[in-house]
Amino acid sequence: MTTPSFNDWDLEAPIAKAISDLGWTKPTEIQIEALPVARQGMDVVGQARTGSGKTAAFGIPIIENCEPSGSLQAMVLCPTRELAVQVAKEFESLQGDKGLSIETVYGGTDLEKQAKRLGKGVDVIVGTPGRVIDMSKRGHIDLESISRFCLDEADRMLDMGFFPDVLWILERMPNRGQTMLFSATFPQEVLDAAEEFTNDPLHVMSDDLEVEVPEIDQFAIRVGRLNKMWALGRIIANMGDDGKMLIFTNTKRMVDMLAERLERFRMGSSALHGDMAQNKRERILKGFREGGTSVLIATDVAARGLDVEGITHVVNYDLPDETESYVHRIGRTGRMGRSGQAWSFVTRGERGMLDKIANTWSMKIPLVDAPELPEGAKEAIRRKDDWDELSDGFGMVPVRLSIGKAEASKMALAEWIQREARVPDITIGEIILGEGESIVEIHVKKASYVIDVLKSRKFGGRDLRPVIAT
Ligand code: AMP
Repeated sequence: MTTPSFNDWDLEAPIAKAISDLGWTKPTEIQIEALPVARQGMDVVGQARTGSGKTAAFGIPIIENCEPSGSLQAMVLCPTRELAVQVAKEFESLQGDKGLSIETVYGGTDLEKQAKRLGKGVDVIVGTPGRVIDMSKRGHIDLESISRFCLDEADRMLDMGFFPDVLWILERMPNRGQTMLFSATFPQEVLDAAEEFTNDPLHVMSDDLEVEVPEIDQFAIRVGRLNKMWALGRIIANMGDDGKMLIFTNTKRMVDMLAERLERFRMGSSALHGDMAQNKRERILKGFREGGTSVLIATDVAARGLDVEGITHVVNYDLPDETESYVHRIGRTGRMGRSGQAWSFVTRGERGMLDKIANTWSMKIPLVDAPELPEGAKEAIRRKDDWDELSDGFGMVPVRLSIGKAEASKMALAEWIQREARVPDITIGEIILGEGESIVEIHVKKASYVIDVLKSRKFGGRDLRPVIAT
């Protein structure tokens, strides 16, 4: 079968022109599958995520089937303000000069101004659930007039607790002729909603997750909390001037803390989280989009649906708690076939989670060392001895000494260390004597101190040169 092109579809003239102006040469997989069916007005339930081209997959049919009449005909609901803005922008560029009035409706902005814009007559609304309900209750949106509806990123809506709101809205659209639902994943609640609110839908389960993930180089660095900054410094040093980095942490607090710490090392960054006023978020995103700042720190929720061109690096400063979040996060880079790098910091206790993520998505995420500094670059952030990370489950740290079985017995070595460092015997764990070197386990609480003592002593006239054995 030959791949269809946009020309095969005989799209409405303004849209066909817009697509050619955008320079799109061929439809994406989700567009090939969903678009022709959706154009006929059928319901669609699609598995796709940001980056797959899904917005045009539901956007083109909606635009084609609306008229610039100033009465509300279609609505798209998105989980975040950023996504709503993005979807509306994409609709605007896809409609070319068709002349539909497309408005966004989301919280955190002046309600009166929004009401005024709606009062002028609008054909398509792209909004977030809370504000849409608010505006409907106040009489600024007439849900009954809507005939085409699309729920975007349904799984995120669910995660963010918006489902009751979405259902409230859906139940008040009696004249809905076409319903589309897009989601990256299908938890039971999303399946149930799809079942209840669509009518004999076409299921489009694209494998874009499998297709897109391997295009990104993924690495994990085994590093404790203490040295994450150091590892981050190394990655930033290697990013190059035209790089763009998105860093994920698991909490809002950590977003702020990390921004402050980077500032202390004179590395500029901006921070994005859900608590910020809308205009501040927009300012920050603009700065990041336009290259004012090249490092953006965000939580999953804040970065949801974010579509910024040219993100080259994604860093999981904290590994996410959910395997799905990992894929959402790394999907921010390497979009539409461009290459990118994803780095994850993995503490000793998180190795299991890393395996789970890799297994769930059949991906290889090799554990590597932090990248070397580029030539001539100075280390911005020093590496610290992270004793907790170096110790095993029993709190013991392996230390290598440069004497072996020819020079010492286990008993003699253990007693000597206890005596010289004045530590109790439980401080010393297992000792393995090899040829010319040995490993001595030392309890994490005393490890730094004992190593310092051993550096300044000789055993039978020989230096011990103690180093942590990793
Ligand atoms: P989406 O998954 O809808 O967020 O789209 C991801 C990005 O791909 C957006 O910047 C779209 O403008 C772009 N895009 C969508 N469809 C195509 C296409 N067929 N060819 C090239 N770019 C596209």
